[in-house]
Amino acid sequence: MPEREPTIFDRILDGTIPCYRVYEDDHVLAFLDIGPLSLGHTLVIPKERVAQLHELSDDAAAALGRVLPRLCRAVMHATGATAYNVLQNNGSAAHQAVRHVHFHIIPRFEGSGFQISWEPGSLDEATAHEIAGKIRRAVSHEP
Ligand code: AMP
Repeated sequence: MPEREPTIFDRILDGTIPCYRVYEDDHVLAFLDIGPLSLGHTLVIPKERVAQLHELSDDAAAALGRVLPRLCRAVMHATGATAYNVLQNNGSAAHQAVRHVHFHIIPRFEGSGFQISWEPGSLDEATAHEIAGKIRRAVSHEP
């Protein structure tokens, strides 16, 4: 497993600092974000201690994938939100502050202050063929 510095989420997993826990199983813990972007903002983390999504084992990834939709339904039910974002940051350039894999479930309400800046570019055919081919080849070499 890749080396990484312990994070605040390790201390939550170890029980040395508290959290507002909403779900736990053998592989996954979910708790309220301490700096919520909206009411019900929830973090879902694997118990496997890796920094970024591409480092997760298939078993940990499967366990997360299994409960994420369930937790989204629970957050929507509890908050009354009918819209939400699932956000997952990897690396400092992607605004990852805590180097332990985590998914944000962020309920969205009309008029709430949370903004995502999204400035789409364009995709020309040559670039599309080239990058799609590179990704296909990389995926085919995955175990
Ligand atoms: P990210 O920028 O994706 O790494 O987000 C890290 C998130 O962890 C932020 O939204 C923080 O508010 C949240 N966070 C940091 N420390 C705690 C904590 N002790 N309990 C709950 N959430 C935390």
